[in-house]
Amino acid sequence: MKQLSAINPYFWKYRSRFFIGIIFVIGANYFAVLAPQITGFVVNQVQLHLPGAKPVLSKPGHDWLVASFIHWVETNNFDFEALVAISSLTILLFAIIRGILMFFMRQTIIVMSRHIEFDQKNAIFHQYQLLDTNFYKTNSTGDLMNRMSEDVSRVRMFTGPAIMYLINLVALIGFSVVSMLRKDVMLTLYVLAPLPVLAITIYLVNSVINKKSEKIQSLLSDLTSNAQESYSGIRVIKSFVQEKAMLGFFKKNSEAYREQAVGLAKVESIYFPSMALMIGLSTLFTICIGGMQALHDSSKLGLIVEFVIYINMLTFPVSAIGWTASMIQRAAASQKRINEFLHATPNIQNRASASVQPITGSIEFQKVNFTYPHTGIKAIQNLNLKIEKGQKVLVLGRTGSGKSTLAQLLLRFYDPQEGSVKIGEKDVKEIDSKILREQISYVQQDVFLFSDTVANNISFGLSEKATVEKIEKAAQFSNVHQEILGFDKGYETLIGERGVTLSGGQKQRISIARALIKDPEIIVFDDCLSAVDAKTEYKILSNLYTYLKEKTAIIITHRIFSTFRFDKIIVLENGSIIEMGDHDALIMQNGYYAELYRLQLTEQEKELEENNLEN
Ligand code: ADP
Ligand code: MG
Repeated sequence: MKQLSAINPYFWKYRSRFFIGIIFVIGANYFAVLAPQITGFVVNQVQLHLPGAKPVLSKPGHDWLVASFIHWVETNNFDFEALVAISSLTILLFAIIRGILMFFMRQTIIVMSRHIEFDQKNAIFHQYQLLDTNFYKTNSTGDLMNRMSEDVSRVRMFTGPAIMYLINLVALIGFSVVSMLRKDVMLTLYVLAPLPVLAITIYLVNSVINKKSEKIQSLLSDLTSNAQESYSGIRVIKSFVQEKAMLGFFKKNSEAYREQAVGLAKVESIYFPSMALMIGLSTLFTICIGGMQALHDSSKLGLIVEFVIYINMLTFPVSAIGWTASMIQRAAASQKRINEFLHATPNIQNRASASVQPITGSIEFQKVNFTYPHTGIKAIQNLNLKIEKGQKVLVLGRTGSGKSTLAQLLLRFYDPQEGSVKIGEKDVKEIDSKILREQISYVQQDVFLFSDTVANNISFGLSEKATVEKIEKAAQFSNVHQEILGFDKGYETLIGERGVTLSGGQKQRISIARALIKDPEIIVFDDCLSAVDAKTEYKILSNLYTYLKEKTAIIITHRIFSTFRFDKIIVLENGSIIEMGDHDALIMQNGYYAELYRLQLTEQEKELEENNLEN
């Protein structure tokens, strides 16, 4: 329960709304208990008009407002019909006032809960953005999404409906029990006796229902992700002729879901009858005991009617006790999960002393050792590397040799356990990560484009709006301009699920354009031309030659470009540099580089021969 105290600041933030809401709830319930009293009064008046009427003996015990109304009616000496009509209109008036107050009660408390929900979602999203890559590697996307949607909405059920019903409940039970006690203490006790049993039963049944619903919810999400995967993998399923197996798998999940849902329906079918039974019992007690008393005092007739109305009024709030209790429990569990995550501190944090000066100068890795924290894989081992400002460096190496890790250390997605990464004599830990990442363009190995227009995807990293010329220039550099013009709406074409499907090479080139438009100090291409053919790759690199003139560039690839002059070529193996030098030096060394070069040459020769044959 103490988990929920994390919401207190929000209640405090919206305190005026909350406070006014409580007043509305109390007001609405006050008017609710007035109507039965007037009904009782009218029934007594009717009774007085019947033959053999007995005088009203018991003291009225009316609320002040009702007492004033009765006093006014009596002093005016209305005839019987007028009295009934006036009383009915008064009841109607009270109902209208109550309705208006209830409207405002929702407008304040439920609206408050929506504001809190909004704030909470923003707080969580903000935290998501602070957390580092390592956090995302260890938490699944589904889980993160759940905290944002499911958990927050459960907490909202607490800050909104649960709180509202709780206050409503206290107010209504308070008002009606006081009104009943003022009329007849004994009868009140008899009538209320079954209600606690009702509340407890409902709480228990509700817990069972919640448990079952949760099970159903998780089965449903299994079922959904099962179906989703089948749709997105439909081509693989069809080409491996696995439709039947997938159907069987789906059926099995679906069957489990059905069983649970049927079980839930059974429990729910006890719920309402048991409620009706308890209320029936209360009504029965009222009529039975009240009826016996009425034999001696016919003014009790009005009382019986009044009590029956109270009981019916109490039904909902009493059954809501169990409902609110389980709602609060669930909200506490959800808030606990949210708290855990809001209190997680990112490993990579900006230091207060971090520099916000633009970065410039040489890049230097000094005796860097890095192990991925959650897997223990040593990705970089004792690495020393110096890249002068404006140099172009080619990084080669087998898959898993640590090339991408090298780039990520430069961008400070991770901090190395030993050694340091410096830019212009400054450790990257001492540079504000916003500045750092703004001035290094990193084109990642696996491309990610947003479901947005081509233009917006290219200008993504810019804080100000990019001009059309700027966007087109970037696309020209990355050799994708012509293809974009070929799309239906050119640069305004939507990409992704709701738009065009791009080829792997097109995606890569758009993501290169996104990196170029930032006009960064340092640029890192991480194997980002793997899906384009050698010819296009060559073209892009020639374009880049002019573009990169003043910039420091690290190009990670698996192909050699002998026509492109690199200041330095390094070959990584198991996280260490095994070869370093320029083209000629590495050919002389006759190692990995030289072998790769020879392989590529024979391939190119083959291609040339094929082309000659075709012509
Ligand atoms: P490359 O880019 O040269 O293919 P990487 O830098 O991606 O190599 O990977 C180097 C090593 O670190 C590999 O053994 C890989 O399995 C491991 N590795 C890469 N990324 C992660 C990660 N996020 N978590 C744990 N291990 C990783
Ligand atoms: Mg890689």
